[in-house]
Amino acid sequence: MPSAISPQLRIAVIGTGPGGLSSAIALSELPNVDLRIYEKAGELKNLGAGISVNLNGWKVMELLGIRDRVNGASTNPTVQR
Ligand SMILES: Cc1cc2nc3c(=O)[nH]c(=O)nc-3n(C[C@H](O)[C@H](O)[C@H](O)COP(=O)(O)OP(=O)(O)OC[C@H]3O[C@@H](n4cnc5c(N)ncnc54)[C@H](O)[C@@H]3O)c2cc1C
Repeated sequence: MPSAISPQLRIAVIGTGPGGLSSAIALSELPNVDLRIYEKAGELKNLGAGISVNLNGWKVMELLGIRDRVNGASTNPTVQR
């Protein structure tokens, strides 16, 4: 007999890079989800010169509802000729 309460979906996201965190934000919108995020690194550090985001990336961030927060923390690179 089906239960009136839908079973909780257990999801493990492995890694806190852009892919893992984007997935976690999207999955957290699902109802009745037990979402856990795992990261093997002992601490999170800045690597590289920055993060460049292309148009599709901005569209995904808009869908996730984080575009304005990311935009507020970002800068526009100057064009060098
Ligand atoms: C040296 C370097 C410099 C870069 N500089 C730039 C830059 O300036 N601008 C830019 O746009 N892009 C840059 N990139 C590319 C950018 O880092 C990648 O495109 C982006 O990080 C990919 O995201 P991701 O989520 O797929 O993977 P990742 O960012 O690699 O995230 C994967 C995460 O999973 C964790 N993980 C892996 N295995 C496990 C496990 N078994 N259990 C738990 N956790 C696990 C890792 O520790 C990591 O935190 C650079 C890459 C490198 C290597």
